[in-house]
Order: sequence, then structure tokens, then C-alpha cells
Amino acid sequence: LLVMAEHESLEFGKADFVLLDNVSMEEFMANLKLRFEKGRIYTYIGEVVVSVNPYRAMNIYGRDVIEQYKGRELYERPPHLFAIADAAYKAMKRRNKDTCIVISGESGAGKTEASKYIMQYIAAITNPNQRAEVERVKNMLLKSNCVLEAFGNAKTNRNDNSSRFGKYMDINFDFKGDPIGGHINNYLLEKVCIALFSSCINDGADFKAVADAMKVIGFTGDEIQTVYKILATILHLGNLTFGVDGDVTLIENTKLVSVLRELLSTKEENVEKALLYRTVATGRDVIEKQHTTQEANYGRDALAKAMYERLFCWIVSRINDVIEVRNYDAKIHGKNTVIGVLDIYGFEIFQNNSFEQFCINYCNEKLQQLFIQLVLKQEQEEYQREGIPWKHIDYFNNQIIVDLVEQQHKGIFAVLDEACMNVGKVTDEVFLQGLNTKLAKHAHYTSRKLSPTDKSLEFDRDFRIRHYAGDVVYSVVGFIDKNKDTLFQDFKRLLYNSSNPVLKAMWPEGKLRITEVTKRPLTAATLFKNSMISLVENLASKEPYYVRCVKPNDVKSPLLFEHERCRHQVEYLGLLENVRVRRAGFANRQTYPRFLQRYKMISEFTWPNHDLPSDKEAVKRLLQGCGFDHDVAYGKTKVFIRTPRTLFSLEEQRAEM
Ligand code: ATP
Ligand code: MG
Repeated sequence: LLVMAEHESLEFGKADFVLLDNVSMEEFMANLKLRFEKGRIYTYIGEVVVSVNPYRAMNIYGRDVIEQYKGRELYERPPHLFAIADAAYKAMKRRNKDTCIVISGESGAGKTEASKYIMQYIAAITNPNQRAEVERVKNMLLKSNCVLEAFGNAKTNRNDNSSRFGKYMDINFDFKGDPIGGHINNYLLEKVCIALFSSCINDGADFKAVADAMKVIGFTGDEIQTVYKILATILHLGNLTFGVDGDVTLIENTKLVSVLRELLSTKEENVEKALLYRTVATGRDVIEKQHTTQEANYGRDALAKAMYERLFCWIVSRINDVIEVRNYDAKIHGKNTVIGVLDIYGFEIFQNNSFEQFCINYCNEKLQQLFIQLVLKQEQEEYQREGIPWKHIDYFNNQIIVDLVEQQHKGIFAVLDEACMNVGKVTDEVFLQGLNTKLAKHAHYTSRKLSPTDKSLEFDRDFRIRHYAGDVVYSVVGFIDKNKDTLFQDFKRLLYNSSNPVLKAMWPEGKLRITEVTKRPLTAATLFKNSMISLVENLASKEPYYVRCVKPNDVKSPLLFEHERCRHQVEYLGLLENVRVRRAGFANRQTYPRFLQRYKMISEFTWPNHDLPSDKEAVKRLLQGCGFDHDVAYGKTKVFIRTPRTLFSLEEQRAEM
């Protein structure tokens, strides 16, 4: 235990924030900064890893380091992602528990890199017998990452390799603890990024690597061809422009139409018609209505976005087909446990926040709710197991904000959906008025109308939510469109009628005639809400481990620790609260044998000792002897130490021996 405290306590700061003398922002930040500057990018809060992006290659992920962490307890080695991965793996293997590792943090903080190191670690420590089938599965899981990144990542001004989708990946293990399959869920791909994304695919070498990975995973030649064609279609759509001649809307660059026809394996007139007309049902009549140029532009963009999104979801589902657990042997043995890894965007507060930020921040409220509940629950359960009385811990319960967003009928999503249901001209302003009417009294909601003197809000555009992580002003502009996210049925039909069977299969709803399209598709908000609710349910059923990623600066520098930027993240990740919760209980706990092993030298007694029949008795006697009896509780298998001071004193006494 506390090998790291010994080696590191002075020079490298505290390896666990729980050991801070005072839980204050100043001390927290000073420790974080010191450790970053000393190249110690990982620090614990109990069993949570706080990670600061080093922005340079660290020599801490090699085979030798993996060996050091394999099978060890958390405190035996300096803080590391590997230790968390190992803890999750051990819990899964030894205690037969499903576990999950939740990685959060803002864009560029290092989530995806962390998830890859975790996967690598798990791959490295499993399958000692080199079973071919397991090796195959491992290879698939690692390759699938490469494919998803190729299609779901983009260069943004915050991160050169930014994941524009949230990803949750289950890895299934058999009774031997070896990976036998997996499953991926993706969340809210940010479609506006397709423009950026296109610059990913220009690199020939990368493209080949992706195509190879797709082949390994088992995509057929036709499927890979279709993927190329869809990407090309999306790019060409970006160049398509409309003009007018009298009152006729027309396509300006007609050559593109024949290119599109070719790519989509359909007829030229079909492409043209879908781009310029919309079929509408009025009563019993079906008419073809010509688009205005504005509508045509809207339709074209919606098509490009929808094709991209559908392509991405299709790729995920194809990967899932392949990596799904097929090993019936494992099922017969009855044990098939899971480690889930969640790599999901953290809180976003920009200059201009829109629907995407709103969804992302709602997601973080949900995860925070889960985090607090689980951390408390875990503590509570351990105390119960050990027979120690539970003391209530006070904390801010953000359920009220979760409700503000997701509650039926009066939550923000409900108001948005209601506005979208309106026939006639629905504007973002109408939606804002709806919010103001329904939420006027809510403690976490404000708008300019409700707070006329508040100049930080624009009158018929902005609303503000007081999130657990801080205040965020959202502009309602675009909420309605993004929520409805409607793709004209004409486009769906166009794609469904393609003679390319792969493309056709992606658009089954194109089969419907306009008169048969009765059901409104679920809105983006509803889909997102449902997926978040099931994600959280899923995570709640598992034993969670957390990685909290912090981005040290905005210029990708390995040297710069921007105090204010980091402080802000520490604040909205709720890290101080986390330390507080952890310390409100017991700062440290150890099994009796382990404790004895480390501290027996400072006792007047020697062991084994027949006067002290159990390790528990021995520990009691030792702590009474040192005068620390008042600061500890004796559980069934562990001793619980309340304040870090006591632990330090024990360490000091030990060092003096
Ligand atoms: P986004 O939300 O935009 O997807 P992210 O949190 O997933 O962001 P990453 O892509 O993991 O961020 O990291 C951004 C960059 O930071 C990486 O491309 C890499 O250059 C650097 N980086 C992150 N973690 C590490 C690490 N442990 N060691 C070295 N470099 C790192
Ligand atoms: Mg990422």
C-alpha cells in the first residue's frame, strides 16, 4: 500500500486528492499542476482517475508497464489508467461482476486516447493461451475502432482527431476471462461536421488503412464500394447549386446530376425530381410541388446529412453483426460477463451554444446524476458489507436539472417536441415562448423575457440553464430544424429505389408512398433522450470506474498548464465534490492482513502472536497503541481510516523505524 505515497508525496505531489490537507480549490489545483509539470499525468480520487492530457508521447504504456500493473491492487503502483482497467477486469473476473469504465472530459482532453489504452491493456492481459478464436475477436475489436474513427472523427479547432459521436462499447468475456465478442452503441453523431470530415478522407494512405480494416472486419467488396459511393455523393452534393428561371427552380450544374445518378445507381430524372420537387398529400390528392431555391438548398443539405448519419449507423450495425458473441461454448458455461467502456463528450460551454450542446450537456447531467448516486451507493454498500454505520452525506442533487430537460409534458424536450408538432409556421421563437410560459418559475431556467434587465441574454433568442457545472446560455436558433430533422420522403424513396442493393437496404422506409407515411418519425430530442435513459440504466447495472480527463491548454502544448482553463474543468467535472464525498466517509480502507503487513513494524508486538487470535484484533491493538483508535472503524474484513492525517502519521512512524 501507498508505495506511491512513499515515493511521491513530496516531490510529485499527492497521488490521491483525498490526501490533500484541505479540500480547497487552491490545493486541488496546486497538486494537479505540480503533478502535470512533473510528468505525473494521472492522479486518483479514491478509485477515480483524473488524467491531464500530456500532449506528448509518454513512455508509460509499454509491455513492461503493463506487467507492473497486471493483477495488482490500485494502491500498489502509481496512479495509471492500467490500474483502473485492471480493477475493472479483476472485479469482472473474480467477483463475476459486469463493470464499466466511464471516460469523460471536454473535447481534446484525451478520452479517446484513454479508451484505446484501456482496450490495449485488456487485450494484452487476456488470452494467455493464445486461443485463435479469442485473438480473432481481439483483433476485430481493435480494428473496429479504426473504422469508427475514420468515419466519426473530424479535425476541429479544438482537436485534430475529434470524435463527433459518443461511443459505448461492451466487451464480453467468457468464464476464463477472455474476450469473446462485443457490442457498440453510438450516440448523437454531429452531422454538421461532414464538411470537416471530408478533409479526413483525402489522405490516400489513411483511406487504404481504413479499407483494409473494413475488409478484416468482414465488409464485402460491394459494401466497401457502396461506402465510397455514398461519401462521394455527399461531397458532390456540397457542390450542387440551384438557380431560378422565371418561377422555375433549376439545378445550375447539371453535369453533377449524372454523376449522382451513377453513384446512386438510379435514373437521372429521379435524381433531378427528388432535388427539385416534393410530393405532398392534400386530402385525397397527391401533388408534386416545386421547391423554392431555399427549400431545394435545405433539402440538399438534409440529404447529405441524413446519408452520412445513416452510413455511420449502418457501419456500426455491420460491425456489431461481426463482433457479436457467437461463442456458444461460453454460453453453455453460463458465464458471460461484460466490461463496458464509455467515451463520451463532456460538458460543452461555447460562445454560441445550440441544440448539440444542449443535448451533450443534458447527457452530462444524466451521467453526473449516475456518478453521485453510484459513488454514494458504492460507499454505502461497502459500509453495509463491513457492518459499519452509514453517515448521510450532503451533496447537490442535480435531478432537478435532469427533470427540467426530460420531464414529460413540461420538460424542455417536451416543449420542443410540442412546438415541432404544430402545423403551420413553427419558429424557434415560438418554441422559446413555450419555454417561457412553462418554465417561468423554474429555479434553473431564465430568459430575457423573465429577467428583462439581464443583458447577457438576447430577447427572443436566448435561454439560460443553470447546470450543475455552471450557467450556459443557449441560442434557440435552429432548435426546431435540428429536432425535426426531416428528410423529404422523396429522397428516401430515391435511395430505396436504387438498384444498388446495399444502398437500398439502408433506406427501408423509402418503400412507403407519401399517403402511407402517417407516423411522424421520432424527433432528434426524443431519440436522444431515450438513448440516454437506456445508457444510464445500462451503466447503473454495472460496477463503474471513472476516468476524468482534463485538457491543460488550448494550444496543444505539453508545457502549458493554463490555470483558469483547468480550474473551470475541475469545477464542472465536480472533482472537488468527489473528493468531499470520498472524504466524508473514510479516506482510506485496507484489509487487515494488508494493513498489518505494512505497519506491524511500528507495533510493540510481533506477529504471529497467539494472544491476538485474529488479524483484526492485532490491528485494533496496534492502532490503540498509537492513539488512533478514535479515528478508525473496524469492519468485518477491513479497517477504515477516517482522516488522511492518521494515515500520514502511520507512514511517518513507519519511515522513522
Ligand atoms: P474529443 O471529444 O474531441 O473526441 P478526446 O477527449 O477524445 O476529444 P483525444 O482525441 O483522446 O481527445 O486526444 C486529443 C489529442 O491529445 C490526441 O490526438 C493526442 O495527440 C493527445 N493525447 C491525449 N491523450 C494523450 C496521452 N495519454 N498521451 C499522449 N498524447 C495524448
Ligand atoms: Mg474523442
